[in-house]
Amino acid sequence: MSTTTAYATCPLCEATCGLEIELTGGEVGSIRGDREDVFSHGFICPKGGSLKALHEDPDRLKTPLVRRDGRLEEATWDEAFAEIDRRLPPLLSEHGRDAVAIYLGNPTVHVLSLALYSRVLVKALGTRNVYSASTVDQMPKHVSSGLMFGTLLSIPIPDVDRTDHLLILGANPLASNGSLMTAPDMRGRIRAIRERGGKVVVVDPRRSRTAEHADEHHFIRPGTDALLLFAMVATLYEEGLVDPGPVAEHAAGVDVMEPLARRFDPESAAPACGIPAGEIRRMARELAAAGSAVVYGRIGTCTQEFGTLASWLVDVLNFLTGNLDRPGGAMFTRAAAGQPNSQGEPGRGRGAALGRWKSRVRELPETFGELPVSCLAEEIETPGEGRVRALVTVAGNPGVSTPNSGRLAAALEGLDFMVSFDVYVNETTRHADVILPGPTPLQHSAYDVAFYQLAVRNVANYSPPVLPPDPGIPDEWVAMLRLVGVVTGQGPDADVAAIDDFVAGEMVRREVGSDHSPIAGRDPGEITAELDGRDGPERMLDLMLRAGPYGDAFGATPGGLTLAALEEAPHGIDLGPLEPRIPEVLRTPSGMIELAPEQIVADVPRLEAAMARERNGGMVLIGRRQLRSNNSWMHNVAPLVKGKDRCTAHVHPDDAERLGLADGAPARVSSRAGAVEVPVEVTDAVMPGVVSIPHGWGHDVEGVRMEVAAAHPGTNSNLLADETAVDPLSGNAILNGIPVELEPA
Ligand code: SF4
Repeated sequence: MSTTTAYATCPLCEATCGLEIELTGGEVGSIRGDREDVFSHGFICPKGGSLKALHEDPDRLKTPLVRRDGRLEEATWDEAFAEIDRRLPPLLSEHGRDAVAIYLGNPTVHVLSLALYSRVLVKALGTRNVYSASTVDQMPKHVSSGLMFGTLLSIPIPDVDRTDHLLILGANPLASNGSLMTAPDMRGRIRAIRERGGKVVVVDPRRSRTAEHADEHHFIRPGTDALLLFAMVATLYEEGLVDPGPVAEHAAGVDVMEPLARRFDPESAAPACGIPAGEIRRMARELAAAGSAVVYGRIGTCTQEFGTLASWLVDVLNFLTGNLDRPGGAMFTRAAAGQPNSQGEPGRGRGAALGRWKSRVRELPETFGELPVSCLAEEIETPGEGRVRALVTVAGNPGVSTPNSGRLAAALEGLDFMVSFDVYVNETTRHADVILPGPTPLQHSAYDVAFYQLAVRNVANYSPPVLPPDPGIPDEWVAMLRLVGVVTGQGPDADVAAIDDFVAGEMVRREVGSDHSPIAGRDPGEITAELDGRDGPERMLDLMLRAGPYGDAFGATPGGLTLAALEEAPHGIDLGPLEPRIPEVLRTPSGMIELAPEQIVADVPRLEAAMARERNGGMVLIGRRQLRSNNSWMHNVAPLVKGKDRCTAHVHPDDAERLGLADGAPARVSSRAGAVEVPVEVTDAVMPGVVSIPHGWGHDVEGVRMEVAAAHPGTNSNLLADETAVDPLSGNAILNGIPVELEPA
């Protein structure tokens, strides 16, 4: 049997590692890192190597399931869509478009067809009840970046490969390989900073793997990052260290910062965050003195009660120290396709779309077209006009991954109808009436249209499917367009190709109709004809690439980027290091960096009040990212869950002694939302007063059809998270700093 080699991009996380896959007789042999990949240079983590096991998982669905007499049973695609057509359109016509909600899970952004066609589905549904994993873990960064720079993806990215000083808060890139910072092999990149004489400082309530590889680690009380960052800003002003450099002329609101920051001097902030005032001052001075430096805050700074304030202050510090938009600082990626801050008029735009509507029950504002997922359970449970009666989930498991997921799981039982795009019957899809499976990562084409926008280097990489589809399983874009046909009144057998042509035609018309597109004014028919021969996500991607900043503009820029060029480059194309983009990158209505957005400044008194809050000495809960875990959905892959139980509660030895907890023995952890039992792991890697439990576990519920996961169920830490508490500006869940009580179980 002949052996061939295929190259692909791993779609499991933001790092976009290149894979080299050996195929013998059409079967997957080994999977290793692609040493020639222009970005990852051979790096791979254990999850990437497990794609073969995921592909061969006997629990993976290979046919739609339809609920009959209360039980999910195998069905044909026609039967599945007949059932959807029988039940969904009547709900829409009787109760309106908002009666159907949609939840988009994390893989939606990594899989090309899901990323592009879930937008089409959302538009066709026409509902305001759009929810996603973004309000679980990252919306604060989108909100602060949107308000400061104009779009949700205008996130300044640490230029890690050139920086002299990296200050990391609430992030563990050695486990995540970067998040809102696409950077394969962060271990190597951090090592390189230190080898060239730079410094890496980690601030985290846990001494994470990243902290162990840093020069310096500071424990911080969960939820107080904004206080630390404000105290550092105050130090810069106190000591005359503010020097924004050339970007100052493009910034508004700079004068607002000094009086604000002076309310948070290090002596006032130190008792709350647990870092001595002298250390805070030293950290600020070192940041200002470094040849180049960058502050990077991630999940711990987002999933807390001051998530947007902390996310904002990260970039305020980058700005005030002169590190915004300069090599070695925080820079803006220039992606090849789909980047909102490369579209429209350079240097000016409509700004962040926030608060255009509110959730029905709690009246929380939408952010960038979606509502906080913390509201979903009450929107299903609460009677009245506008109640959510049906739900579409796309590659998501909110029944595990959202705050107080126990309440949401119960609420799902009250839906009139639920349809899920998923490859498993998991804790969420077990409630569905119809499940529509899709291909595995090895059967998908790959181009990470979202995360190349946040990469530490400008790169582009496309890979065709490595393996053919399973017989009878269409790609999700086909199934999604079939669902679009149903919800737009075309019935269960709508002409998918015609809908796809219409969607692509609309994209072409928008592009040629935009004054600032490189193909502005061109004949739509001519552009459409040039895209002929492709359909689905590849047609959309080719259009986006060719009309993008490196594109061939359909022949107007010979040698420019096309999908065909990427097809000829199996290891990707390196588009160079990050380059300064201010002011061209800005899309704020003022055309300026908004250093002190009104909405954010208005939230500062809440932080001030928290600084003065009495601390009662109680325990608080934080999460924990794990290298072999990918939120909730890789736990049915045996090579990733083998070995000792990793779903444990990390407790400091002093707390363990005080509370009578023994290493390896179960503890009962309770909060306002619920209670769980979890084995204790006594370790001084966690700060006193803090308990850390990883997220994504809890697979021991009835109806789940995932044998390996059921044998390694772990505990669902989100049963402890309070769905009534959110960061008010972003609606993001608060998963860190949850007050809990611990006792021996
Ligand atoms: S770091 Fe992420 S992209 Fe790279 S191999 Fe692991 S899961 Fe895949």
